[in-house]
Amino acid sequence: MSEPRCAIGIDLGGTHLRWAVVTPLGERLYQDRIPRGREPEAVVAGIHAGIARCRERFPAVVGAGIAVPGIIAAEGVTSNNLGWHDFPLQQQLEDISLPHVLLNDMAAGAIGELDCGRARGFKNVIFLTVSTGIGAGIILNGDVYRGANGFAGEVGHTVVDLNGLLCGCGRRGCWEMIASGTAHRRRVREAFQSGTWPNLTDEPTPADITERARHGDKAARALILRTARYLGIGVSNLANLYDPEAVIFTGGFARNNWDIIHDYLDNEVSEQAFSPNLRLLLTELGDDAGLVGAAALALRAGDRGK
Ligand SMILES: [Zn+2]
Repeated sequence: MSEPRCAIGIDLGGTHLRWAVVTPLGERLYQDRIPRGREPEAVVAGIHAGIARCRERFPAVVGAGIAVPGIIAAEGVTSNNLGWHDFPLQQQLEDISLPHVLLNDMAAGAIGELDCGRARGFKNVIFLTVSTGIGAGIILNGDVYRGANGFAGEVGHTVVDLNGLLCGCGRRGCWEMIASGTAHRRRVREAFQSGTWPNLTDEPTPADITERARHGDKAARALILRTARYLGIGVSNLANLYDPEAVIFTGGFARNNWDIIHDYLDNEVSEQAFSPNLRLLLTELGDDAGLVGAAALALRAGDRGK
């Protein structure tokens, strides 16, 4: 049996370095992972090992895509998650005898959803993660938009409140300071400390709040919808900037609370944004979006090289 057309996707995630051999339909023919080292040497060795193992099993892979949680510039990779500043990852991978491409993990997730997931059939899409922070992968006319310096998609650092909290980026009132999972957790703590749930002895986790909201706890539901309201402001801003057909949500807050927030968020955005038919959808690929998208980009590059 001949080997199907496929490429390698690699994702440098929060805890693991993951790899997969992926077909154009997004099918994972093989995948595995190892704990992700933090030191650049360990990460580079892990990438080489992952590619080698994929090629042993699928010698005809057309290329590899590597999704990195950071900014990829000509000088190197800068990543808060990895603690890297201008690390020359590109040069460290030059000896891989296989076409390969580096891309930001949000951009990878966007391509994954576009080619193999929830955004199939769309051409202009925002892939939005609402987690500890807020970030986006932006697809314009069917291709990922990186910007002049690779910063495109840093949507969490757009100011929505002139008098808001000081953000780690140095600005005040960034969107992610009020609409991220971290902001939600902060408001849960404040509500607990102010005696909202007098019967609770320990501070509830965000997962506890979601459960409580599903079981009729009005205060818990109100906290989640407050974050949804702030999300709606920023999503409407993005809708007016880019006029996408869809926004695909991922990240812990969005995924865990989707059933609670969707209709509310949809209503907020339809009242605020110009777009008459913007679709707000949940990720289809989940944790694998970056992995699949990295491979999908390698497959795209392979198509162009033919
Ligand atoms: Zn900021």
